[in-house]
Amino acid sequence: MYWENELETLKRNDLEKLQFKRLKSTIQSAMNSPYYGNLYKQMGLSADSVRSVSDIQKLPFTTKQNLRENFPYGFLGLPTKELIRLHSTSGTTGNPTVIFHNRHDIDSWANLMARSLFCAGVRDTDVFQNICGYGLFTGGLGFQYGVERLGCLSIPAGAGNSPRQIKLMQDYGTTAIHAIPSYLNRLYEVFLEEGLDPRKDTKLHTFVIGAEPHTEGQRRRIEEMYGVKAYNSFGLTEMNGPGVAFECTCQNGLHIWEDAYLVEIINPETLEPITDGEVGELVLTTLDRQAMPLIRYRTRDLTRILPGTCACGRTHVRLDRITGRSDDMFIVKGCNIFPMQIEGVLMKVPEVGADYLITLKTIDGNDEMIIEVEVKKDWFNGDISRLDKLTKQLTALIRDEVLVKPIIRLVEPNSLPKPEGKAVRVKELRIALNS
Ligand SMILES: [Zn+2]
Repeated sequence: MYWENELETLKRNDLEKLQFKRLKSTIQSAMNSPYYGNLYKQMGLSADSVRSVSDIQKLPFTTKQNLRENFPYGFLGLPTKELIRLHSTSGTTGNPTVIFHNRHDIDSWANLMARSLFCAGVRDTDVFQNICGYGLFTGGLGFQYGVERLGCLSIPAGAGNSPRQIKLMQDYGTTAIHAIPSYLNRLYEVFLEEGLDPRKDTKLHTFVIGAEPHTEGQRRRIEEMYGVKAYNSFGLTEMNGPGVAFECTCQNGLHIWEDAYLVEIINPETLEPITDGEVGELVLTTLDRQAMPLIRYRTRDLTRILPGTCACGRTHVRLDRITGRSDDMFIVKGCNIFPMQIEGVLMKVPEVGADYLITLKTIDGNDEMIIEVEVKKDWFNGDISRLDKLTKQLTALIRDEVLVKPIIRLVEPNSLPKPEGKAVRVKELRIALNS
């Protein structure tokens, strides 16, 4: 029932022994890079400084800023002739984050992806359509190599062009899909426009969703719309991309592959470790990457380790769904708010449609939070009092959740901007009065 029986069900103390061995060799490889080599020498650190896995706390954190400042080759521990691929972020603000891989790294990543997909119930009999940008973005080739390793018939569909995506599904009998959740909401509208019902007119049964934070309510809606099971996937470019942590068919947290990643949860302010079960910032160390190992990388993602064991029998710990990134948080009228808190409220209201947009704006010198909410089509039939009632209901529900009274604007389905790629949830238009 597992992709790798022994590794996925390793006893905890054996897993820790394996982690320790891999941590030592990771430190050794990292010290071949200019960045870690200089830093560790200055601090008097080496692989011998670590006598147990928990000794990792003696080593300094690595941040996105460190990666940017040492762009592009400062973290590289191997000569460039041994590299076979790079992936990078778009780098819209400053230098992009680039990660280099040698043959071993690509092979290990493909295996982790195959293990992840198998864990979510995908099998070699599936027809897998990857609706995701190929190229430098990791979601394209990352999934592609994993799906091929697993042995599915893969459809490297790429992103966008919804009518074509639907045609591919129908022509080849697609059974499994990888896409971002906000895209699946849009795609559903296109199914309806074409007079099709994905529950009846496709063979879909499994979705893998990730790359953008979303709530449990959003997942259940997608499952309901398409008549499928949808599984959460987690990854980030700095840790290869997808395949870091994945839900099993129990749908109860994401197993993080601890033979490849060492997990810590820290308090982002004090940087002290947080005990199991509490939410903090996820910090990861690569344990099976040769070209560009990263040690104690601060992901900025907020999550917690779920206590207890999983019914599936895998021994690797489970992360709770990512509740947001520490840099996604915004402050209105002194209250700290995460977009996912608002989505959590909206997705519980059946009249609410697929999309929403939070705009922060200065009105008469005050910070205001305007939330445009798409509602389902049949609500715009001229019955103003019904819309008024829904507006009041949403205002009260959101105020109770985040302690700030929002300005709710109900809009028609598909009227909010739909960017290619990840959904934009918050627009900042406030005037900075003090700067
Ligand atoms: Zn499990």
